[in-house]
Amino acid sequence: MKTPVPDYLNHVLSACHDNKKGALADYIPELASVNPDKLGLALSTVDGTIYSAGDDDVEFTMQSLSKPFAYALAIKELGLKQVLEKVGVEPSGEAFNQISLEKERNIPKNPMINSGAITTHSLIPAKKTVSRAEQLRRFLSGLAGRELSFDEQVYNSEIKTAFRNMSIGYMLRTVGVLDEDPKEIVHGYIKQCAIKVTVKDLAVITSILANGGVHPKTGKRMLDRALVRQLLSVMLTCGMYDAAGDWLTTVGIPAKSGVAGGIIGVLPGQVGIAVFSPKIDEHGNSVRGVRIFENLSHDMGLHLMEGTPSAQTILQSRYTVGKKNNVVVYELRGVLQFTESEMLLRILQDEPEGKSTIILDLTNLTLMHDVGARMLFEGVDRLKQDGHKVLVVDSEGLLDKDQLKGRKRVVVTEELEKFLEKYE
Ligand code: GLU
Repeated sequence: MKTPVPDYLNHVLSACHDNKKGALADYIPELASVNPDKLGLALSTVDGTIYSAGDDDVEFTMQSLSKPFAYALAIKELGLKQVLEKVGVEPSGEAFNQISLEKERNIPKNPMINSGAITTHSLIPAKKTVSRAEQLRRFLSGLAGRELSFDEQVYNSEIKTAFRNMSIGYMLRTVGVLDEDPKEIVHGYIKQCAIKVTVKDLAVITSILANGGVHPKTGKRMLDRALVRQLLSVMLTCGMYDAAGDWLTTVGIPAKSGVAGGIIGVLPGQVGIAVFSPKIDEHGNSVRGVRIFENLSHDMGLHLMEGTPSAQTILQSRYTVGKKNNVVVYELRGVLQFTESEMLLRILQDEPEGKSTIILDLTNLTLMHDVGARMLFEGVDRLKQDGHKVLVVDSEGLLDKDQLKGRKRVVVTEELEKFLEKYE
């Protein structure tokens, strides 16, 4: 059997194909000469599978899609506290290039509008030999798994007409948000906007965000979980500029758009989505891109507020082994967040006091949240107080060093029953 997902994606593309509305972002002359018909879509799952359709290998410039990643890099390098001192997190409800500041603190309202993004760019620590844009290009290449490059033509073209961004830069310098030459910062920001990607690159990158910062294919942690949370929160409230409320109610996926026609969306724990179609609407969002997201969200039930009924699934099975049937194995599955941990502890509560050995087998868990680890070990300690011996089998290395907190990881490479025969 062949999975119908690619057919479905092609179907979504053809349903939007004839929509000719919108216009190219001609305030950047080079963008006015691109082929307006290009249309690409890619979708990634949290196990790293990528489906794509249409013009999935066509490169286009990230433009504002670069903003969340510059924000991520600034937070990674400086820490969130310092970044928040310079850029707020309040949705502005304004156009992307509005010349405005937060009233009380005189800082940009959020990192997704240009004033915030120019400031965020300046927060990437300066290095003598590597420009900030180059630092971001390397960071994004690491996430995408291939060397990305700059579109020098688009960069040079935007520089020539960057009057509005320059005036934002000078305003930021006037109020002391920028403390360097605004021209240099704005040029660096425009360079960051000229990083080229395909929808497939973006699908890889968004799969990492959907997976809480861990690369789904390699299992390597690429971004801090708290950083991903911050990033997605800001995308949710500010990513679609003055269309943010409309987007949240209709599509309900944290997203970011760029004036070259790209849109990325991330549904935590489920999917990453990237679309590309160059004609944009009055908000600066790709017309066909928005339609595609609306269709995907509607057809696949991807709205954030739909929730996931994951709490039904924590216990895969409970069985006893051992000569005296005194080893009780709890096989867990799914994700261990608060709801599932609460359910697990309620199940363990029924285990009578005594001297049995209790095995909590995490092999089939896909995600261990910090709260899950804390509650799990709280349960382990209480079982021990009741007289039991407890082993937590973590053969997949789901628990990280902080979560283990000095406890020993038990790895079982053979069948659990065989291990137990020897263990007894
Ligand atoms: N480089 C563009 C600008 O600063 C990015 C805007 C966007 O993609 O929304 O005007």
